[in-house]
Amino acid sequence: RAKSQSGLSYAIYDQQKDQSGNADITLEPELWRALQKGEFVLHYQPRIDLRTGCITGAEALIRWQHPERGLIRPDDFIPACEKSGLIVPIGYWVIQQAGRDMKLIREAGLHGHIGVNLSFRQFQDTYLARTIERLIEQFDIDSSMLEFELTETALFSDEVHVKECIRALSAHGIEFSLDDFGTGYSSFSLLQKLPITKLKIDKSFIAGVPGNADDEEIVRAIVSLAHNLQKSVIAEGVETKAQLEFLIKQDCDQVQGYFFSPPVSLDLFLKMLGANEMQAR
Ligand code: C2E
Ligand code: MG
Ligand code: MG
Ligand code: MG
Repeated sequence: RAKSQSGLSYAIYDQQKDQSGNADITLEPELWRALQKGEFVLHYQPRIDLRTGCITGAEALIRWQHPERGLIRPDDFIPACEKSGLIVPIGYWVIQQAGRDMKLIREAGLHGHIGVNLSFRQFQDTYLARTIERLIEQFDIDSSMLEFELTETALFSDEVHVKECIRALSAHGIEFSLDDFGTGYSSFSLLQKLPITKLKIDKSFIAGVPGNADDEEIVRAIVSLAHNLQKSVIAEGVETKAQLEFLIKQDCDQVQGYFFSPPVSLDLFLKMLGANEMQAR
């Protein structure tokens, strides 16, 4: 981790992890087959509002239900998808599936925002915004309940195109958040220019609080930056009560992490959301 030299970008990097990881190109045919056979599933990790203590929604996280190898985590196949471009069709599958699941949430009389991860590679598809608009129509997706999580790399790939895309989708009420905030190069000017409504503090910083003075300072700085720019802030990777208490003290808005719940099946998420709404009444 290192701090950037200029005041223009906050840079604590952990970069290139995804690109240079052990992406296995020989996985590609298997991944195509998996997509055709419907072997991908979405799990949902609840998010909690720190003011109300209620679940506000969840992040959708892809898993690969492999017939022999069992459940495979995204870090073991998303890098290969990004390298081969397969992330484009798989990314559309994710949006469709999240849309279907959002409909089930709605039909159960429940409310929850759903965050979907968008890879920088997906912006290389010039039809990204139009295809998402079509999916919204086709799957009757409530776009005001949909949020896309972007990483800072996405914002730097092709600035003009990415900006247009984000603006077009924001016009439908879709929200955008910056994922893993603090680990890439976060340009303050982009934060200002783009309709990004939320910053997600990377879990590597949360791991150090309370206790590590640098991490504490970074978390404080991100919360105040977000609030000063009229954005909300969510901490990811919250595993302990001490972390939670620190975040409440810093006025963080939402949390996500094993302390509350790991990512769970849609069924379980629906139950949690249901219990939550009963309690809120
Ligand atoms: P992410 O978007 O930053 O997601 C957060 C990751 O942190 C998830 O890992 C989640 O399970 C994990 N996590 C949650 N709470 C805790 C905690 O308390 N402690 C720790 N140590 N970890 C926690 P997961 O599900 O393995 O996903 C890894 C990454 O894969 C995601 O990071 C995201 O970048 C990518 N990914 C997942 N689903 C998709 C998808 O549908 N599309 C794309 N493009 N990328 C995806
Ligand atoms: Mg995410
Ligand atoms: Mg909304
Ligand atoms: Mg993250």
